[in-house]
Amino acid sequence: MGVSVTFVDMNDMNLLKEVLQKHKVSLFYADSPSNPLLNCLDIKKVSELCHSHGALVCIDSTLASPINQKPLTLGTDLVLHSATKYISGHHDVVGGCVSGSENLISKIRSCHFDLGSPLVPNAAYMIIRGMKTMHLRVETQNNTALKMTHLLEKHPMVRRVYYPGLPSHPQHDIAKSQMSGFGGVVSFELAGDLYATMKFVDSLKLPYIATSLGGCESLVQQPAVMSFWDYSAAERAKIGIKDNLVRFAFGIEKFEDLAADILQALQNMILCSHTPQLTSCG
Ligand SMILES: *Cc1c(COP(=O)(O)O)cnc(C)c1O
Repeated sequence: MGVSVTFVDMNDMNLLKEVLQKHKVSLFYADSPSNPLLNCLDIKKVSELCHSHGALVCIDSTLASPINQKPLTLGTDLVLHSATKYISGHHDVVGGCVSGSENLISKIRSCHFDLGSPLVPNAAYMIIRGMKTMHLRVETQNNTALKMTHLLEKHPMVRRVYYPGLPSHPQHDIAKSQMSGFGGVVSFELAGDLYATMKFVDSLKLPYIATSLGGCESLVQQPAVMSFWDYSAAERAKIGIKDNLVRFAFGIEKFEDLAADILQALQNMILCSHTPQLTSCG
């Protein structure tokens, strides 16, 4: 469609400034928090910088949910959400939404009509129905995720936890200033290799193994073999996706049940790592 794209490290403001000066940028686009490492962008600062160079700003705020983060109030021109996730909240519908000024949205709308992909009426109905409990679900997911990170950070089989709500997160201060909660997605690296990590995932009894997020049911996935399986090991290393990385998207199950499940799966992983042949561990 004649659109050229320049990728920048979203926390490198100097690089962004350089690109804005060198190219005629029409739109800055980023996820914040990002998937799966939950990097956060200083949305206000980036919006000001981009606007001073005549570029519009669009933030995909899906991982935060509309409850926890409101990019339009931080200065962006557009905000995107996959309504498949927190907004509908039941893992039973696919949809998305874009919000912004009438001027921008009317342009998107006419293009959208030409390109297709209107929402199926029944999906619209299910999204409206799901939205009625969004604030309750997200509050539970915020609380469960934050509490679980404390448990995970203390566990000897967990090497590192990625969650914007933790002081150990590289952009914790930014996250705190622009989010009212930190969402239900937590990523963590285990003290084990690709196969030990698979063993952990397979030992979990409550979550479904799947790549979505934001619904009532907890989901778990191993990015190296599920969402980034088509990247080479070198490409994965470059963007920080390790073999032992697990992404957990917490649902609204009872915290104690989820905690007990995670602890037994970590225990199972320890037992397996002590058996000489991992494949023989049932
Ligand atoms: C899931 C997701 C999408 C894609 O949304 P679909 O509704 O699955 O098409 C886009 N951005 C982010 C951040 C997502 O998590």
